[in-house]
Amino acid sequence: MTTKRPLPDPRNVDLDTLAIRGGTLRSEFNEHSEALFLTSSFVFNSAEEAAGLFSGAEDGFVYSRFSNPTVRMFEDRLAALEGAEAALATSSGMAAIFATAMATLKAGDHVVCGAGVFGATVQLFSSILARFGVATSYVRGSDMDAWRAAVTPATRLLFCETPSNPLGEVIDLAALAQLGRDHGALTVADNCFCTPILQRPLDFGVDLVVHTATKYLDGQGRVLGGAVVGRKALIRDAILPVLRSAGPSLSPFNAWVLLKGLETLGLRIRAQSAAALRLAEWLQAQPQIERVFFPGLTSHPQRALIERQQRGPGAVLSFELRGDGPEAQRARAWRVIDAVKLMSITANLGDTRTTITHPATTTHGRLTPEARARAGIGEGLVRLAVGLESVEDLMHDLAQALSA
Ligand SMILES: *Cc1c(COP(=O)(O)O)cnc(C)c1O
Repeated sequence: MTTKRPLPDPRNVDLDTLAIRGGTLRSEFNEHSEALFLTSSFVFNSAEEAAGLFSGAEDGFVYSRFSNPTVRMFEDRLAALEGAEAALATSSGMAAIFATAMATLKAGDHVVCGAGVFGATVQLFSSILARFGVATSYVRGSDMDAWRAAVTPATRLLFCETPSNPLGEVIDLAALAQLGRDHGALTVADNCFCTPILQRPLDFGVDLVVHTATKYLDGQGRVLGGAVVGRKALIRDAILPVLRSAGPSLSPFNAWVLLKGLETLGLRIRAQSAAALRLAEWLQAQPQIERVFFPGLTSHPQRALIERQQRGPGAVLSFELRGDGPEAQRARAWRVIDAVKLMSITANLGDTRTTITHPATTTHGRLTPEARARAGIGEGLVRLAVGLESVEDLMHDLAQALSA
């Protein structure tokens, strides 16, 4: 049996301490670092104990599809970081979003979603949930009037991601949460880009946070994972039954890797944010560049909101290359991407390795040209997800690529 060591009281310790000490379960062997429980099931001391655990009357571990000590440690630690009562882990970020939708929506319901969300999230709402009678409207996330106008009597869910990818537009979480309460709709924020170190949506009244642990929580590009975080009642009564029966479980091995990832989350996010700021400021001064998009720039039009809502800018930035018309801009952008020597050409993000991508032909390639134009994704746009290499080396790499 594992003995549960009490969590540090989150009111008394910093997030960096919770990221290391939060959510620790120790076995009878008193291991210092978290143990990895690779077991599909657990045995019971008696038939009576089995009955109690199965009915939920007793708390304990039954079967790793829905309960495992290593996974539980990851859930408790992430919940502590988000300032939440509870969290449930999933096999990926998309599984977390899917479970949230399945737990909170039914045929005839309507969703309002920020237009800047992750591409697979759009596919999930528009191609899959639409077949089950759930309708989704997309709005420009930073435009609160557009959110208000899109809400109908059937709206049950307001879904957002902030800052937006790749343009760094910020959504007013407190205003969104208020809108949800006014209309009896749940609000959900995908907190991938900021992580709880830089932004805690629940503090602004949002109902649920979803995470892809694949990105910054692991932070080293090793495993897939996800989580849904929020009030105990919502997590236990709505999300758990879906996960328990549908089965998109996080593997204990991945949970163990993610626990190690969380331990360095604060250090990494702050270092990566600082490096992104230096690169963004440097890029602004380069003659080949028309515009830089980054929440950390003093020129960002939503400066006041960012300072209210985020403790740092995050590490994703994008820049638009000058060029005479879309064809020339695309050729320039591809030339810069092909010329980098250090950065990885990939659409992934949240890694120690800096990545570079052309959103118009990758992450946003499935949008129609009109939808892309509406979203502000031009052919000259290049996105960077800044890693942990030396900033000087990254700057040299970009400098030689820009003049290629
Ligand atoms: C990658 C990503 C997801 C999906 O996460 P997976 O773990 O790949 O399923 C969801 N939201 C955002 C913002 C992402 O970047």
